Amino acid sequence: MNETYDLADPMSWRKMHKPKPDQEISAASYKELLLRVLDEHRGWISNDDFLAIVQKIFGPIFSRADKRIIRGRPKWMNTVDWSKAVLSSTGIIHTRSHQRDGKRVTYIVLRSHAELIGWVTNKKQSARFKKVCSKCKSKRPLSETFCGEGAKGGCNYVFPQKKERVDKLPR
Ligand SMILES: [Zn+2]
Repeated sequence: MNETYDLADPMSWRKMHKPKPDQEISAASYKELLLRVLDEHRGWISNDDFLAIVQKIFGPIFSRADKRIIRGRPKWMNTVDWSKAVLSSTGIIHTRSHQRDGKRVTYIVLRSHAELIGWVTNKKQSARFKKVCSKCKSKRPLSETFCGEGAKGGCNYVFPQKKERVDKLPR
């Protein structure tokens, strides 16, 4: 039985039917949700935050099969991992982990936003991301709207506006 819900409307989440005890919420359900969430989160989210969203939407309707514990974790988490593996292997997302405050944090990033990975996983590195001014050829901070705005030595060339990004997402 296929159902739809409105991500922006928690009432519609609650209207979804609970699967039968031996049915599981499909990997495709998590895949679709992840792509929508990434799109709305400007291309990246931490794995923990995504799991929290899954739990908010599907937690109340998890079946017995979804909740059964396999190797110390509920089955639905395995299915979420599987949906991420599928999206990784088809090149749609990347996952990256790093240590933050002694804790391992995993981020999920849309490949079309892959330049965010360095920024997401290492704040200090963001300052090192540069673009080259097409007029004076000097390396400029990414955030500059004109050459010389954020760092000295610029030629005042106004950078062209960034192209809108189009994510090709499965339905
Ligand atoms: Zn310049």
